[in-house]
Amino acid sequence: MIVAERKKIQDLLEIVKSHKKLLVLGCGTCVTVCLAGGQREVSIIASALRMAAKLKGQQLEVEELTIERQCDNVFIEQAAEAIQRNDAVLSLACGAGVQAIAERYPSKPVYAGLDTSFIGILEERGIWTEKCAACGQCVLHLYGGICPVTRCAKHMLNGPCSGSREDRCEVDPNRQCAWQLIYKRLKEIGQLDRLKKIKPPKNWSRSQSGGYRTILREDHRV
Ligand code: SF4
Ligand code: SF4
Repeated sequence: MIVAERKKIQDLLEIVKSHKKLLVLGCGTCVTVCLAGGQREVSIIASALRMAAKLKGQQLEVEELTIERQCDNVFIEQAAEAIQRNDAVLSLACGAGVQAIAERYPSKPVYAGLDTSFIGILEERGIWTEKCAACGQCVLHLYGGICPVTRCAKHMLNGPCSGSREDRCEVDPNRQCAWQLIYKRLKEIGQLDRLKKIKPPKNWSRSQSGGYRTILREDHRV
């Protein structure tokens, strides 16, 4: 899923300050699962904005709505009337959803209420971890299903960098060396032979960059 985090209320208030009628629009898919932009968060953000505006003496009417998917025109249609009757939209979708709404309503200001972070999974309660950098040329089949692009800080594709100590990554010792994991997994599934073959340079023109990232939400930890 796409993982995102909420922007701060004070930042959101600043973003929408020139509007008097605002639609806070949630998305029922990825951002609902990662607890950033679903119906519950729409309600929390809308209430917080109303309160913050009142405290600042700012006139702001806030309407709430959540649709199934903001990146899909079929569902965007369901928000048509609410979008029309408000001055602006604060979208709690990922960056793709925000842009889909903006493209569909070119004369309506549409703002991002979230910081879209990465493609990842819920590792454990309150911790989401990046698993895929959408590099555009998936090589998981070569590495036992462990992504060296995302999980190795140096994106090593032909073995470890030789900096790891006791299975820890030298860039961040709190994390396991991706190549330790790859070796262990290939051994487990009887595919260590794959490591004997030198991989040709990857086509990075289809990618972005960066080591894997994690979001820690203390309020969802047990
Ligand atoms: S190889 Fe590329 S597409 Fe496949 S999981 Fe890693 S980043 Fe994602
Ligand atoms: S220690 Fe392992 S995970 Fe870290 S950069 Fe080197 S090869 Fe990659």
